[in-house]
Amino acid sequence: MELDLGSLLHALIPTWNSVAVLGVYFGYLAIAGSILPGKVVSGVTLQDGSRLHYRCNGLLSLLLLVGLLGVGAQMEIVSATVISERGLELLSATFIFSVVVTMMLYVAGRLSKNKVSSLRPHVTGNLIEDWWFGIQLNPQFFSIDLKFFFVRAGMMGWLFINLSVLAKSIQNGTLNQSMILYQSFCTLYILDYFFYEEYMTSTWDIIAERLGFMLVFGDLVWIPFTFSIQGWWLLRNNVELTTAAVIANCFVFLLGYMVFRGANKQKHDFKKDPKAPIWGRAPRVIGGKLLASGYWGIARHCNYLGDLMLALSFSLPCGISSPVPYFYPIYLLILLIWRERRDEARCAEKYREVWAEYRQLVPWRILPYLY
Ligand code: NDP
Repeated sequence: MELDLGSLLHALIPTWNSVAVLGVYFGYLAIAGSILPGKVVSGVTLQDGSRLHYRCNGLLSLLLLVGLLGVGAQMEIVSATVISERGLELLSATFIFSVVVTMMLYVAGRLSKNKVSSLRPHVTGNLIEDWWFGIQLNPQFFSIDLKFFFVRAGMMGWLFINLSVLAKSIQNGTLNQSMILYQSFCTLYILDYFFYEEYMTSTWDIIAERLGFMLVFGDLVWIPFTFSIQGWWLLRNNVELTTAAVIANCFVFLLGYMVFRGANKQKHDFKKDPKAPIWGRAPRVIGGKLLASGYWGIARHCNYLGDLMLALSFSLPCGISSPVPYFYPIYLLILLIWRERRDEARCAEKYREVWAEYRQLVPWRILPYLY
């Protein structure tokens, strides 16, 4: 036991190798994000009327990096299994980076005299609170929007961890149906995320949360290292799935994807053009502001329901012998229930009687007839 704890602690100590992996990764993303072509999308209008602009070239940056690493692995310049072999030290290196970078953001935020909404400091005076939630809405570093950058790094990091775990299972000769299902679902989800990257620009995190430790840690450490637990678990555990279980698993994924993407797309299209048809019909709109048809007429956060089904589909390939691979759906359930409550309060204040009317018309929060 002592030995296990000792070796665990030892594995957590970052080496220069892991620092170099992180440095090259962030460096690549900064350069690729700045120079690769991509649709430039205007963010929501901020309090002072200004708007930020985001270059949505995440998919190209990702595919190019996958290609470069694939060639590098073929030529034996890089190791495809490096992340799966150095997972713990990469985790602690990323954690230390998050702490350091958010301390720098705290200091920069406190010193800022900027008056524009995206950079105006919001200081409560409580050191922990200001460091945790952040001081500025959209801090930048050499013209790079750090919030957009970190969420991109985290989502791509999740895929690279998965690919490395996949390479390890091939190397070990243990690749099986469960691993293929888990890898396929996550890869489709992440590629889809970057295909629709512009939708990110209107999400709660981008428009409402300041950039502090909560978001930086969430993006860089939490997303890639905890969302991939199923893959790590499958490396060490063999699961035999019946054909019926595989079909049911694919069904949960497809249904979840349809609801998740459909709901987010309907809202996005509605915001761009409030008359855009929903499911082939003119939309039902409340007070000229809120969409009450399509998925948004079924539950007030149907998009969360889709996301939860997807999360479940990532864990089902692991069978039901252990709760460990269910960490992600359980965490997401708690997060989205909390988030829905916070968004509900925000919308009730913003839309007032229009929101009350919407609530009456669509009484369900996430899951019709249950919640
Ligand atoms: P939502 O997409 O749920 O957006 C909420 C906002 O949409 C509201 O504040 C309001 O903003 C607007 N809105 C709400 N209802 C309506 C309506 N009926 N008609 C028009 N506009 C409406 O926000 P999130 O950013 O929380 O989530 C985006 C996606 O990201 C979700 O699918 C979620 O599941 C996913 N997600 C995933 C996480 C993960 O860890 N996997 C974590 C967090 C989110 P406005 O003021 O602009 O009108």
